[in-house]
Amino acid sequence: MLKQLSYKLLIVVSVFFVVACSSTKEASKAKKGATTAANKPAKKPGKNDIQPFNKVITKEAKSDEGLFTVHTQDESYFYEIPDSLFDREMLMVTRIAKTANGLGFGGGKQNEQVLRWQKKGKKVILRVVSYNVFAADSLPVREAVENSNFEPVLFTFPIKAFGKDSTSTVIDVTPLFEKDVKSLGLPDFRRRPYKVTRLESDKSFIESVKSYPRNIEARHVKTYAAGAPPSNSSTGSISIEINNSMILLPENPMKRRYFDERVGWFTSSQTDYGLEDQKSKSLEFLDRWRLEVRDEDIEKFKRGELVVPKKQIVYYIDRATPEKWRKYIKQGIEDWQVAFEAAGFKEAIIAKDPPTVEEDPEWSPEDVRYSVVRYLASPIPNANGPHVSDPRTGEILESDINWYHNVMSLLRGWFFVQTAAINPDAQSPQFKDEVMGRLIRFVSAHEVGHTLGLPHNMGSSVAYKVEDLRDAAFTQKYGTAPSIMDYARFNYVAQPGDEGVALMPNIGVYDKYAISWGYRPILDKTAEEEKPILNQWIMEHAGDPMYRFGHQQVGDIHDPSSQTEDLGDDAMLASEYGIK
Ligand SMILES: [Zn+2]
Repeated sequence: MLKQLSYKLLIVVSVFFVVACSSTKEASKAKKGATTAANKPAKKPGKNDIQPFNKVITKEAKSDEGLFTVHTQDESYFYEIPDSLFDREMLMVTRIAKTANGLGFGGGKQNEQVLRWQKKGKKVILRVVSYNVFAADSLPVREAVENSNFEPVLFTFPIKAFGKDSTSTVIDVTPLFEKDVKSLGLPDFRRRPYKVTRLESDKSFIESVKSYPRNIEARHVKTYAAGAPPSNSSTGSISIEINNSMILLPENPMKRRYFDERVGWFTSSQTDYGLEDQKSKSLEFLDRWRLEVRDEDIEKFKRGELVVPKKQIVYYIDRATPEKWRKYIKQGIEDWQVAFEAAGFKEAIIAKDPPTVEEDPEWSPEDVRYSVVRYLASPIPNANGPHVSDPRTGEILESDINWYHNVMSLLRGWFFVQTAAINPDAQSPQFKDEVMGRLIRFVSAHEVGHTLGLPHNMGSSVAYKVEDLRDAAFTQKYGTAPSIMDYARFNYVAQPGDEGVALMPNIGVYDKYAISWGYRPILDKTAEEEKPILNQWIMEHAGDPMYRFGHQQVGDIHDPSSQTEDLGDDAMLASEYGIK
């Protein structure tokens, strides 16, 4: 809410399919070779020889099925990679999960890369699909783009064994997470300020590697020797816990929707060399959920009837959330349904309780299939709504909202200072549950807005006349700003006697318009062909301040109409009312 983690995706790749190498034959041949070798006791298998599966993965191993099966044995971690997943593109997101005091970047994303696992001879190669340039498959320039985007090798692994039915390949991935692999650990720009010199291997270890159907989550503690550690300086080192999240990218990429700066969105971008222009051009497209019309509903949709999307956006409420707040967080999520109705969908976004441990012991917020509002017992007075998207198309793959317990103390402070003069509900040190619940619903809706693709719209609140904010009928209808994505909290303009004024924004006119603009399906058109229609949707509201988008300005403020915490069209007058 305060500090939205705006994820700008740097690494972008094109739609690029490599035919998976037919490895079954290769596998059985190699296995035969290995078995023969094992049958001759005279020759001891070398360290790098391929061995029978049960010699490598013994009965003692703990096995966790998922995208790859992860076998854990004697502090070693093995991936059993299904041959069908070689050459598929995977997104690797590296975050710092935990830090000591003073480092101050816990939870933050450090790096994002598209990776590809390949099998070559007796090795498995992990490559970085690093090209962020693109040219359509059909164009001759395509080959040039591929050649200049040779995929660097991140790591190689000797093949240890083949799976029991010869359709999978086993490697030991322990070194990948134990060694100092910068792109999966502390990045260079973090090392410099603390004068990090090297990894201290004896103080570094793998915490866990867990497999889910579409992702693998690795956690490892890294200790680096540092000349200027920010805290515990006597140790001369810093320790952090890293989380590497590897997500399988969809086989059928979503259709992009191109960005237009007149409507605020989080975006991904890519350089296109296939355009008619003399120079290459950066293409920017929306980060958004894949909302599609079911085939059987297409006629209904065309007639203007609301339809339930093929796949709804589902948010789960963390099991750790106190019972009494759950319904308010859920309301904040489902408040967005009205915006998706503007886009042609009903029940597009729903909130659910997760299954209990008894119902589904495997369920986890780490599973990329589940987006979760996580309730964190932390003194940080904040909440944020980051998301992970497919760099090729902008498709949002998952989003977990982090809800820190102390966001409530922040809300209490604001609500008291800004509204207590006219609002009996805010005049006690402890708010009633319904009052706090309403505030929680407001924050929940704001955070969910970020995860749907919307950044802050600080140019929203200026659309209303300051005097209108004292009008009960007006504010009940329109809230305190046309967008819940502005910082238009809370109504400090209202004066004693202004009975019944609304105190905060709701999903407003701008929010419905932005969601409709970004999500309404345009059937039978390519992303390129959508552009004139998207332009027309914007031009329909040209000049109307209710539909305006204004950037959040950081540092020097140049546009006085696009500020945080301001209300109405005259900040001086509004502030006078506020301090009156
Ligand atoms: Zn925010």
